[in-house]
Amino acid sequence: MDKIFVTKPFLAPRKEYDAYVSKIWDNQWLTNMGPLAVELENKLCEHLKVENLLYVSNGTIALHMAIKALDLKGEIITTPFSFVATTNSIVWEGCTPVFVDINADNLNINPAKIEEAITDKTTTILSTHIFGNPCDVEAIQKIADKHNLKVIYDAAHAFGVKLNGKSIFEFGDISTCSLHATKFYHTGEGGLVIAKDKEVHKKLGYIRNHGLHEKEGFASIGTNAKNSEFHAALGLVNLNYVGEILEKRQQIAAIYKLKLQDNVKFQTWNTDASNNYCYFPVIFKTEQELLRVKEHLEQNNIFTRRYFYPSLASSLPYLPTIHLPISEDISKRCLCLPIYFDLSLKDTVRICDLILATI
Ligand SMILES: *Cc1c(COP(=O)(O)O)cnc(C)c1O
Repeated sequence: MDKIFVTKPFLAPRKEYDAYVSKIWDNQWLTNMGPLAVELENKLCEHLKVENLLYVSNGTIALHMAIKALDLKGEIITTPFSFVATTNSIVWEGCTPVFVDINADNLNINPAKIEEAITDKTTTILSTHIFGNPCDVEAIQKIADKHNLKVIYDAAHAFGVKLNGKSIFEFGDISTCSLHATKFYHTGEGGLVIAKDKEVHKKLGYIRNHGLHEKEGFASIGTNAKNSEFHAALGLVNLNYVGEILEKRQQIAAIYKLKLQDNVKFQTWNTDASNNYCYFPVIFKTEQELLRVKEHLEQNNIFTRRYFYPSLASSLPYLPTIHLPISEDISKRCLCLPIYFDLSLKDTVRICDLILATI
C-alpha cells in the first residue's frame, strides 16, 4: 500500500505550469520582480483583499525582514508552541525571545500571561496563529498599545483565514506567511510579508532587494529575499485551485471530527474566524496514548507528525531552558494527522478506524 504522509504538496496539471514556463522563455526574465512575480502579487492582493503585500523567497526570511523593517531590539515576547523558525528569526536578528505560555484550548499564546513578562527591554510581541487559528488579536493589540510595543504575527499557517470577514494578515504591524510546499497554498518555496503601514511596506521592498539603491550606491541595509519567476508560475497555477483544495480539506476534517470526537480533543477554533484546515491536530489524553497511535499508524504505512514537539522554551541548546507547563504538556500530546488534497475520504476513514482500534 502507498505510504500516507502528514501532507503532500498540491500539484496542478503539468500543462498549466508548462504554459507559464513558455512565458518565462518569451519574457527572458527569471527573477528580480519579473512579470510573473508582479502578477502573482497583484492576484494575491485581490484574492486576500489586502494591500502592502510582498512576495518573498520563504516564510523564514519574511520573519527576518519584519524584525529588520521595524528596527526591533531587546526582548521579543513569543510563543513556545510553534515551528523553530519563529524563535530562530528573533535570535538571528540579535533580539532575545521571551517565551509566554499558551492557552491549552486554542493553543495560541495566552494574552493573560503577556503583561507579567513585559520588562523595560520589551519591544515586541511576535506570535504565531498556530495551525491557522487566529490569536486573540484584540487583547494582544490592547497590551501592545498600553506598553508601546510592536506586534508581528507569524501567519505561516493562516493563508486565506478570515477574522470577522477581514484577512487575518491585516492584524498587527506586520504579518508573515509561508508558501512552502507543505503549506495550504504553496509556490514550492515562498513567503509573504504584509505590512499595515505604507512606509513600512516600502522599506520591506528595499530590504527584499539588498537595501535602498541610490545613484551613489546603497543607502540602507538589505538582503536577498526575492523569489523567482518559476516559483511565481507555480503560485499562479495553484491559486486557481485554492477553492477546491479548501473544500477537500473540509471534507477530510469533517470525517476526523465526526469519528474521533469522543476519543481525542481538538483545538478550540476562534469562533469569529474561518478555518483553512492547513493541519489537523488532535490532542490525546497522554503522551503514551499518542505514541501508541503513532506507532500503530506507522505499521500501516501512515506517517503523522508531532507538530510541534518539543516545546521551543525548553529544548533549544542555544537558549536558556524555561519550563512552561501548558506548552510542554500540549506538545507531548498533540499529533497532526494526514490532511491534503490527494488524500481519499476512504483512507481518512481508515486512519480513524486505526486510531480508534489503538486507544
Ligand atoms: C513553515 C513555517 C515557517 C517557515 O516558513 P518557510 O517558508 O519554510 O521558511 C515559519 N513559521 C511557522 C509557524 C511555520 O510553520
